[in-house]
Amino acid sequence: TVRTRFAPSPTGMLHIGGARTALFSWLYARHHGGQFVLRIEDTDRERSTDEATQVILDGLKWLGLDWDGEPVFQAARQAEHVLAVEQLLEEGHAYRCYCSKEELDEMREAQRAAGEKPMYDGRCRHRSDRPADAPFVVRFRSPDEGETVVHDLVLGDVSFPNAELDDLILLRSDGTPTYNLAVVADDAAMAITHVVRGSDHLNNTPRQIQLYQALGLPIPQFAHIPLIHGPDGAKMSKRHGSVAITEYREQGYLPEAVNNYLARLGWSHGDEEVFSREQMIELFELEQVGKAAARFDQQKLDWLNAHWLREADAAAIVDEVARLLAVDTAAGPDLAAVIPALQERSKNLVELAEGARFFYVAPTSYQEQAVKKNFRDSSWPLLESFISAIEAMEDYSGAAVHAQIQSICEAEGVNMGKLAQPVRILVSGGPVSPPIDLTLDLLGKDETLARLRAGIA
Ligand code: GLU
Repeated sequence: TVRTRFAPSPTGMLHIGGARTALFSWLYARHHGGQFVLRIEDTDRERSTDEATQVILDGLKWLGLDWDGEPVFQAARQAEHVLAVEQLLEEGHAYRCYCSKEELDEMREAQRAAGEKPMYDGRCRHRSDRPADAPFVVRFRSPDEGETVVHDLVLGDVSFPNAELDDLILLRSDGTPTYNLAVVADDAAMAITHVVRGSDHLNNTPRQIQLYQALGLPIPQFAHIPLIHGPDGAKMSKRHGSVAITEYREQGYLPEAVNNYLARLGWSHGDEEVFSREQMIELFELEQVGKAAARFDQQKLDWLNAHWLREADAAAIVDEVARLLAVDTAAGPDLAAVIPALQERSKNLVELAEGARFFYVAPTSYQEQAVKKNFRDSSWPLLESFISAIEAMEDYSGAAVHAQIQSICEAEGVNMGKLAQPVRILVSGGPVSPPIDLTLDLLGKDETLARLRAGIA
C-alpha cells in the first residue's frame, strides 16, 4: 500500500509551501487508499521549538490533513541513525574522516586555485595514520563513476554524474547524524513508498538513493514538486504575503478554500478551478503536477474563498464566526440564522463576523457620511410612523415590516429607500446590512424598537 509522509522541520512556521507539500502528500495517500504519516524533523536542537511543532500540528489539523498514527520525532531516533552508520562502516560503505578544518580549507583553496569546483577529495578513504582518539566524522564512500538517476514522478528522469557527488558526512564529530542519513533511515523504517517534497530537495535525492543502495533498502518513489513563486516570479517570501498558514485562518479564510487553492498551485485537472476535498481526493495524481514553478495569486485565493464561503453550511462555520466575532452572542439572534444573511455579501469570515457584529452590539454612533446622505427633515415623521406601526404589530415578522415600510412610503409618495435607509443606519450604525426586512426580523421587535427609539431621541 501507498505510504506517504510529511517531514517538516519545526524551525519556523508552516507556510504556504510546506502546507502545499503536506497537501499533495496527503492527497496522494488518500487517493490511493494508503496512509499518510507525520515526522517532525527536530534534529536541529538549537532552532527547533515546541511552539513551531504546535503551529505545524494546528495548521495541519485546521486544513483537515489528518495523519495516521502518532507523529514520529526524528531526534528520538538517533540511536537507529547511528546503527545505520555502523552498518555502513562495517560493510565498507563509510569511513572515518579525520581531516581538520585547516586541512579542508587548504584542500579547497588548492582546488579553487586549479580552477576546480571545491569538493571533498576522499583523502581519508585510505588514511591509516591517525590516533584512535582523534576527533572524526563519518563519511559515505560514494561511487566515483557512473551516474545516479532519480526517476521522479513529477520531473521525470533526472541524472546526476556520481563524480560530482563528494563523500557526504553521515555523522558529525559530535556523533549526531546528518539530514540525508536520518531521512533515509527514517523513511525506510517508516516504510514510506512515496517521498513527496519540494524541488529544493532534488539535489539531496541522488545521495539518498546511494544510501538506500548501500544499506540494502528498497528505494521509494520520489516526487519533487516545483517551488511557489510570487506574482513577480521571484521565490515566494514574506514580501508576497507568505505567512504562517494559521494566519490565513485569522484572516478569515476557509480551509476548503486554502486547500482548493493550494491544490491548484501546481496541480491541474482540465480547466476546472473549484474542487471540493472529495473531488481532490478522487482526482489527484502526482503525474498531473506541473514541472514549472507555480505562481501565487492572491486574487484567485480570495475568489475561491468567497466561493467556498457561499457554499458553506452555516452550522459548519458558526463556531469559527463566533470565535472571530468575539462578542457575547447569547442575548442576540441565533448566529447560525444571521450567517446566511451575510454569506453572499462577504469575501471572508472576518468580513462576515464584522457584518454580524451589530446584531449583538447596538451602535453607539452612526456613520457621519451615511447620516448626511440619508437623513432629511422629512425622515423624522417617516420614522415616527414606522415606530408606531411596529408598536402596534401583533405578528412581528420580516414580511410585516416590509409591508409597513411600503405603505408608509406610498402614503407619503416617496420611494422605500427614504425610510429603509434611515432605519438601517439607526439599527446598524451604517448604510450596509442585509435586506432591511430580514435585518429587522433577525433583530426582533423589542431590539428594533429600542434602537429606533434611541436613534430618534
Ligand atoms: N525536513 C525537511 C524540510 O523541512 C524535509 C525533508 C524531506 O521531505 O525529505 O525541508
